[in-house]
Amino acid sequence: MTTQISTRRRTKIIATLGPATTSEAQIEAMILAGMNVARFNFSHGEADDHRERARIIRKLEAKLDVHIAILGDLQGPKIRIARFENQKVVLEQGQEFILSNDYPYDKGNAQIVGIDYPELVTDCRPGDELLLDDGRIVLEVVRIEGQNVYTTVTSGGELSNNKGINRRGGGLSAPSLTEKDKADIILAAEIGVDFVAVSFPRYGRDMEQARRLVQEAGSSAWIIAKIERAEAVADDQALDELITASDGVMVARGDLGVEVGDAELVGIQKKIIRHARTLNKFVITATQMMESMINHPFPTRAEVSDVANAVLDYTDAVMLSGESASGLYPVETVKAMARICVGAEKHPTTTQSRHRVGETFTRFDETIALAAMYAANHFHQVRAIISLSESGHTPLIMSRIRSGVPIYCLTPHDSTRNRVAMFRGVYPVEFDPAAVTETDVARAAMAQLLKYQPLNRGDWVLLLQGDHYGVIGATNSMKLLCMDDFLND
Ligand code: PGA
Ligand code: MN
Repeated sequence: MTTQISTRRRTKIIATLGPATTSEAQIEAMILAGMNVARFNFSHGEADDHRERARIIRKLEAKLDVHIAILGDLQGPKIRIARFENQKVVLEQGQEFILSNDYPYDKGNAQIVGIDYPELVTDCRPGDELLLDDGRIVLEVVRIEGQNVYTTVTSGGELSNNKGINRRGGGLSAPSLTEKDKADIILAAEIGVDFVAVSFPRYGRDMEQARRLVQEAGSSAWIIAKIERAEAVADDQALDELITASDGVMVARGDLGVEVGDAELVGIQKKIIRHARTLNKFVITATQMMESMINHPFPTRAEVSDVANAVLDYTDAVMLSGESASGLYPVETVKAMARICVGAEKHPTTTQSRHRVGETFTRFDETIALAAMYAANHFHQVRAIISLSESGHTPLIMSRIRSGVPIYCLTPHDSTRNRVAMFRGVYPVEFDPAAVTETDVARAAMAQLLKYQPLNRGDWVLLLQGDHYGVIGATNSMKLLCMDDFLND
């Protein structure tokens, strides 16, 4: 069923903030260009840089009357080479190159370099391919002797300090949360992030551990599994276990593409997005979406097509990394991304849903939420959906369904308004139902909605709410409100 109502962008934009996006003026320009979620990459920058950016964002939210989610992305056990005496070397195809556990940390050269991952000598075998710097350099393991891995360079080029190492096919066994990650979780809680992303998780229990640490740090942030290991997508069971243990997932195409090979990536992206939505989780598509805009003010046709394809796959959010953190055109990149999202959302498939047709539901709030979407998509005069929500869970479930009807999350909680900035087609609005008498809630909610979206005679609005405010997961009713009843003529 097709409905096309709003021209407002539904797909959300995540921009990584970095050296290019640090000042208040730069961050304000990013928000005005369309950034919905700011990503803090804990692999880079000092704690004080992150604290300062968080302070600026919270200040601008009030000034601009917007809600921006902050996503803290943990570095995780990225395995890296150490440093070179002269910062970088050039490796020639066919030459020998040694990765060593006991070579001095900053004395690398074109023959040998240190590593920070002792298990590499037990985790790999002759014949394995090691990919450095996101696959730009490829080494084939020849033999392992003591603390040294001897390789032959099969794809050469320039290699500089601290570049990451992946193994083709996955299988490097480093645990998911490092000591640095644990310290960064405490920092994330302190600066009030809305989401914490876990790098390289392998099992549901990695996510459970992260969730426990986040809670122990006093944060109510939702947690995101970055899908970036070959093992995580090896079969449906492994993938679904990770998704189920998380609140949302990221298709982390940088590392994932290196581990599974770039040719597999498109199919896997589509599968991760489909599985996440079916399991009522949100999903982010990340990495190299607008890569050429690091140096140029316009995207390539291929990049336009890539962003549009993710929108058609029905991702919740598309993400920028280097483009916004250290590129020359961060604001132009967000604007271009926003424009491409809106363009792709005009395609009819983005509003047609066959979501979980033929399935039964196990929760009553889920049942109401999905029934509401069916009503909104099939009754052609529904212009908006209002969900009176505590945690944002009901709007999350509703926005799993393809639709052109905007979903307004009306909530008294600042943290919920920030959180739902992540979800496709969901817009945060401040509203406290407990502040008005029960009989006035619908009227007051409509009045608040009208500040965000004009409505005409003959338009209908769907209102979802529970019997008791302040209770999470209690949405149990849906009302169809006709605009005519709210016009005083
Ligand atoms: P990263 O994660 O940028 O932290 O490596 C995203 C990815 O791997 O795509
Ligand atoms: Mn990664």
